[in-house]
Amino acid sequence: MLNIGCHLSTSKGFKNMGKEALSIGANTFQFFTRNPRGGKAKDIDAKDVNELLEIMKKNNFATILAHAPYTLNGCSADENTRKFAIEMMADDLVRMEYLPNNFYNFHPGSHVKQGVDIGIDFIAQMLNTVLKPEQTTTVLLETMAGKGTEIGRSFEEIAQIIEKVELKDHLGVCLDTCHIHDAGYDLSNFDAILDEFDQVIGLDRLLVVHLNDSKNVKGAHKDRHANLGLGEIGFDILNGIAHNERIKDVPKILETPYIDGKAPYKEEIEQLRAIKP
Ligand code: FE
Ligand code: FE
Ligand code: ZN
Repeated sequence: MLNIGCHLSTSKGFKNMGKEALSIGANTFQFFTRNPRGGKAKDIDAKDVNELLEIMKKNNFATILAHAPYTLNGCSADENTRKFAIEMMADDLVRMEYLPNNFYNFHPGSHVKQGVDIGIDFIAQMLNTVLKPEQTTTVLLETMAGKGTEIGRSFEEIAQIIEKVELKDHLGVCLDTCHIHDAGYDLSNFDAILDEFDQVIGLDRLLVVHLNDSKNVKGAHKDRHANLGLGEIGFDILNGIAHNERIKDVPKILETPYIDGKAPYKEEIEQLRAIKP
C-alpha cells in the first residue's frame, strides 16, 4: 500500500491530526513542531499524543514527520541565530520523544555570505550538539531548491554534512521533488536520480519524499510548490515517483498549495492511490 499523507495543522491537537488524516485517505502526515516563523512551542498534552499513537497503531500508519520552523538557521552568520537554532532543535527533539520512532525534518539553512563550506561546518556542529545516542527520532535533512544561499541544493552538499556528523545512525534525508527540480535535477528519469542519490548519499538514507509539483522550470532555484499536474513536473512523473518500487515503503507527503482556500489533499491522495503508472 502507498504510504501517503500531507501537511496538517496542529491547531486542534495531535489526535485531531490522526482523525483528519484518516478522513482524507492518508496513512501518514507532517506537522510543524511550532509556528513555522519560530516562537515558543506549545506544551505537549501526553493524553492527546497517546490518542494519536493509538489511532496510528490501529490504522497501520507509516512513520510520521515533524517539520522544524523555517526560521531555524543553524549556519547563520549571526552567532545568536545559530545558538537559537540549536536550542530550538534540541527542544523539539526532546518533545519528539513523546512520539517515539518518528522523523524530524529541517532545512539545512542559508550560509548568507560565508560560503558553503563554513555553512556545512556549522550545520554539522549543530547536529553534533543536539543528537543524542538514546534518541529514537531520526533527523532528516531536506533537499533544497538553492534559493539564495540555501545549503542542500545538491546531493553532494547533503552528503558532506552527513559525513561530518558523529551519530550518523540518527540521520536521514527528505527528498522534496519541487526543490530538486528547482535545483536542476531532471525528474523525468527518476530511476537515474535514485542511482545518483544512492551513489552520493546512499539510498538507505532516503526516508521521506515531499511530493510537490513546481511552478517554475527546472533549475529556476525558486521553491514555489504547485498542485500535482499543475506545474512543470507533471502528474505522470510525480505519480511514477509515488509508486516507484525502489522507495515503495518511503512515506510521501504532499505540501501542495490550497485551491480557492481549500486543501487539495483528499483529491490528490485519491488520484495517486487510484492511478497506477
Ligand atoms: Fe520543508
Ligand atoms: Fe518540502
Ligand atoms: Zn518548498
